[in-house]
Amino acid sequence: MSKSKYADHPQKEKVSTQTCSRYYDPEQISKLRASQSPIAISVHRCPTWSSLDPLQFRGYWDNSANGTLLNTGQTAYFTFESSARPRLCGGPLIGEYIFEQMHFHWSVDDFTGCEHVLDGHGYAAECHLVHYNTKYQSLEAAVAHPDGLAVVGFLLEVVDAPNPSFDEFVEGLEKIKKRDQTCEVSSESLAWMDREDLSSGNYVTYKGSLTTPPYTECVTWIIYEKPVQIGSEQLGLLRQLEGPDSIPIERNVRPTQRHPPGHSVIYVKQVKAKL
Ligand SMILES: [Zn+2]
Repeated sequence: MSKSKYADHPQKEKVSTQTCSRYYDPEQISKLRASQSPIAISVHRCPTWSSLDPLQFRGYWDNSANGTLLNTGQTAYFTFESSARPRLCGGPLIGEYIFEQMHFHWSVDDFTGCEHVLDGHGYAAECHLVHYNTKYQSLEAAVAHPDGLAVVGFLLEVVDAPNPSFDEFVEGLEKIKKRDQTCEVSSESLAWMDREDLSSGNYVTYKGSLTTPPYTECVTWIIYEKPVQIGSEQLGLLRQLEGPDSIPIERNVRPTQRHPPGHSVIYVKQVKAKL
């Protein structure tokens, strides 16, 4: 990747009340200091950028391949067949990232199940889509590098009525209550990821870490601001998944970590793509 023509532009940001600059790009994200994750983020205090390319999710929905849902004893874990992995690029990312797996974090109540906290607001669960950089051979190899992983996070907000776009996923959850159980699901189980929201929704991005051991600082985080709604009964099926002791997994959330000095989180406004 060639050096940005804007590389000499001062990196110090104006506050978010200012109109966004046109001069920021992924190279500048890549130079940000990493922190441990997750973190609590004051969205209104983040510098706002609107100059990044839209995020591009490729092969998530038009994928005829099946996926597998697994109860790992710690979480619900979704993978695609290795021949049909979706790709992610654009936004704060340099190059292309390959989908590795999707998993969930939750808790016993509707407000402490998320890992990231935006403007002090807690949610029932958080979903992570884990991708690794195509310039590395595998996820395991990528973890050793600061630009190794890109994780997209969605906050899940509980509502009374079921969200029909979660139906396929939830049907799968019913079949993996016990640890190590697996079931085949189609790419329809990702139907709840709204394409329009993904390409035009705003998000926060920062350099952080895995939220499970070994907590390596190798992740470009992308957390969408708008929560995804899930029905109360649908979310209840996550809470019924059993851990190694055959009792339901109550909580699989890492507490928020301190921001190190000089750490930055960027609020990204996505500009609607013109047709
Ligand atoms: Zn996670």
